Parts: sequence; C-alpha cells; structure tokens
Amino acid sequence: MRPRYITIHSTQNWSSGADPWRHSLALKNSKLGKLSWHYTVDEKVAVQHIPTTEQGRHADFNGPGNKYSIGIEMCEHPGNSRSATLDRTAKLTAWLMKQHNIPLSRVVPHYHWPRWGRSPAHKNCPHFLLDHGKPGRKWNAYLAKIKKYHDAITLPQSNAWASR
Ligand SMILES: [Zn+2]
Repeated sequence: MRPRYITIHSTQNWSSGADPWRHSLALKNSKLGKLSWHYTVDEKVAVQHIPTTEQGRHADFNGPGNKYSIGIEMCEHPGNSRSATLDRTAKLTAWLMKQHNIPLSRVVPHYHWPRWGRSPAHKNCPHFLLDHGKPGRKWNAYLAKIKKYHDAITLPQSNAWASR
C-alpha cells in the first residue's frame, strides 16, 4: 500500500487492560478474524502492528478506506486517560502526515468511509470525536490540534516558535 489517508478510530473495547499490547497479541493470535490495522494508541504508548506499506482491514471492507489509509485505533479501557490518548494520537498522526506527505484534508474519522451493505453505512467512530454521530465541532477541534503538531515539525523552527 502507498498510504494516501489516515483513518482514526476508537476501539470501543472497554475491557480491563485492553491496551495496545493486548490488541497487538489479539491480532498476532488471529483473535480478531480478518480485522487488522496499523497502530493502537493509549495514554502511554503507540504500538505499530503492521507496516504502513501493508493494507489493513479496519474501515470499509474492500473500499478505499482499507486500500489507501493508515488505521489508528485509540484505546478506551478503564483507567486510560482519554485526553492523553488523544494527544499522543495527534502527535503520531502529525508524524505520519509528514512521513507520507498526507495533507490534513486526508486525515479522516472512520465515519468518513461508507460501509456498503451495513446500516448505518457510516459508523459512529471514533464516537467521542463526533457530534451526534457525525463530524462537527469536536472533530474540527481535533484536526486543529493535529495541525498544531504538524506545523511544529514541518514549519521552519523560527516560525514555529515565533507563532507561540
Ligand atoms: Zn472504527
């Protein structure tokens, strides 16, 4: 795969200890069927499961979300800080944008990719970044956070610091 998009999800796995390592093991042991994605993030770490040159199965079956996007899952297990997870995911996303030359307009929530044949076609994912199940104020604020980190690693240092 040559990634053109970054797709952001949340695990909706509220089991105790369902952290990136646990998801890594589940993928390795084929406990999740055909599902696969590239990174899982929590308050402490971002763990990579498959190379970004390999297609995952996390968004829309045989659709473009799977064919062309890097999938990132944010953890939701008890005791995990959501704000720290969001922050770490924003930094990872900014870094991946830089690595693969992906613009902010191609950083999308799972919701973005219709799953044909499913109802509703657009999944409410990541649910805590959507407003009434759709991208709105929360998603836009999150994109602004990602942009801030992306600017910090791409703009000339002098400009990045001067704008603080
Ligand atoms: Zn999702």
